[in-house]
Amino acid sequence: MKGGTFFTLTSLFYICLLTIVYFSKRRLKTPENIIFSLLILTNLVGVVLAIMCYFTITNIAIMPKINTFVSKAYLFYLLTWITLFTEYIVVISLDKRKDYAKKRLRLYSILTIISIIGGIAVIILPLYYNSTPGSIYSYGPAANVAFGLGFAYAALCVIFMLLNLKTVKKHKYLPLFAFIVFGTASALIQKVNPALLLITATETFVTFLMYFTIENPDLKMIEQLNIARDSAEKANAAKTDFLSNMSHEIRTPLNAIVGFSNLLLDDKSIPDSSKDSIKDIVLASENLLEIVNGILDISKIEANKLEIVNNEYDFNKFTNELIVLSKGRLGEKPIDFKVNIDSSIPPVLYGDVQRLKQICVNILTNAIKYTKNGWIEFKISSVQKDDVCRLIISVEDTGIGIKNENIDKLFNKFERIDLEENVTIEGTGLGLAITKKLVDLMNGKIVVQSVFGKGSKFTVCVDQKIVSNPTIKLEETRNLTPVINIINKTVLLVDDNKINLKVAEKLLDNYGIKTESVDSGFACIEKIQSGNKYDLILLDDMMPKMSGVETLKKLKEINGFNIKVVALTANALTGMKEKYLSEGFDDYLAKPINKDELNKVINKYLNND
Ligand code: ADP
Repeated sequence: MKGGTFFTLTSLFYICLLTIVYFSKRRLKTPENIIFSLLILTNLVGVVLAIMCYFTITNIAIMPKINTFVSKAYLFYLLTWITLFTEYIVVISLDKRKDYAKKRLRLYSILTIISIIGGIAVIILPLYYNSTPGSIYSYGPAANVAFGLGFAYAALCVIFMLLNLKTVKKHKYLPLFAFIVFGTASALIQKVNPALLLITATETFVTFLMYFTIENPDLKMIEQLNIARDSAEKANAAKTDFLSNMSHEIRTPLNAIVGFSNLLLDDKSIPDSSKDSIKDIVLASENLLEIVNGILDISKIEANKLEIVNNEYDFNKFTNELIVLSKGRLGEKPIDFKVNIDSSIPPVLYGDVQRLKQICVNILTNAIKYTKNGWIEFKISSVQKDDVCRLIISVEDTGIGIKNENIDKLFNKFERIDLEENVTIEGTGLGLAITKKLVDLMNGKIVVQSVFGKGSKFTVCVDQKIVSNPTIKLEETRNLTPVINIINKTVLLVDDNKINLKVAEKLLDNYGIKTESVDSGFACIEKIQSGNKYDLILLDDMMPKMSGVETLKKLKEINGFNIKVVALTANALTGMKEKYLSEGFDDYLAKPINKDELNKVINKYLNND
């Protein structure tokens, strides 16, 4: 078998294979994909025609008419293939933003008209054949037209790609340049030595390579998926940014509402009849705060920005805080709150205590919310092996219970089970969605058991490391009642918002603490530079011109500066505490200021004991 025929037969095998593989896959319907599909089909027809040409030229004496028809059809195929290839280049080169459809249509029309004229010329013009042993090929004006147009198109492709290099560069342009150069070279070789019959094989090879480099449907799908993922991620990031800004905007006025209404509650000159309304304001604003925090948390989790920050923690302190908080939330409800904590749990564990607390607070609060009377049991047992302590935390209640069919819906965000009783109970349906995501992030498990009308039990399992040589000091849990042993303490308050300053002044005044207020980082630095002494600085972060973080940096550069600085900010995205501590702050207080948190800070930094 001669070299040319061998190449053509091999091409037939490959193009059949490619056709089967390509058309059996799910494909995108972009213009370039459609052209590529046509390119494959044309190639298949072309290879068949090339083989037929070989047989008809060899037997030209028996079938002259069929030979002419097949040979001209083959030239027609060459023209079609190169036209489609050029159209492919046009599609990928054009800038998709500027009049893409119009330009594409115009160029398609020009190319198609030229090719039709070329095709007519091929049909009309004469074609001659050479069929001497070892050298079988056709030549003459018809072949010249087909080859001439082919070269012109190849040149056009290169020019077009160079002109639109910016757009082409976004694609895999290198293989395309290589294909054009490679194809032109083999066509030239065939022109010089027509007997080699290289062109069909080359085209098949080019189509084949295109499949593996740029037109594989799988790769294209992945590419599209990546683009979709990138834009979704961008949108999500924008949403998180928006929420974080909104959080600041909403929390600043909320700070004033919560702060002042709390102060009014303690004001003895206000009649009891008004106190009920004030209590409602406190409750409503605290609720609003919870909603804002919940939305912030869920958006952060969804943007994959929430990280589990593991540290050593005091286990007893953790449980005590939960008990105090739950008892506070129970208020006057006729519910027996039972606590059952495994005494064998090591005193210091390693894990993300803030998140664990958030998980427990959510299920404890739900138990309190959805139970009218009876009891709630908060139980922590453990399974310990080597240095791992598996905490099994359960909260069981005798509340309204959940129907079996609703259990799966519990962890969907914004899903609230539609019960009559539920209508009057405040909630957003975010708590359990956040809880589940947090448990997942900790590689734990959460299980719900419930009998409708009787009660529910939520069980969370998480592994925590046992710390045998703790580096933290175990504190005795301090009483969270207002501190009294504060003598002659002065706090510098720094906040650009006048109302926030007023709230903080009043809150600290309740403790008998003196305050000085300034409304910018610059003023704060000036105060320290001019030698004023303070026992603590409460420094807002989000201030115009100079942020709290920048102010702190400057403060630390002042010789001999050793005042404790607490970040005070409405930026409530979770994880902020860690951020501020890493920026060099000694502590963090979120606005609206929570009384217990303020108590802790005052106890820690201003208590004379
Ligand atoms: P929220 O309490 O804000 O509505 P959650 O996500 O915390 O949102 O809870 C989702 C739903 O699960 C609640 O609306 C409630 O119907 C149900 N649920 C959660 N905990 C309990 C419970 N302990 N007893 C009965 N129903 C509960």
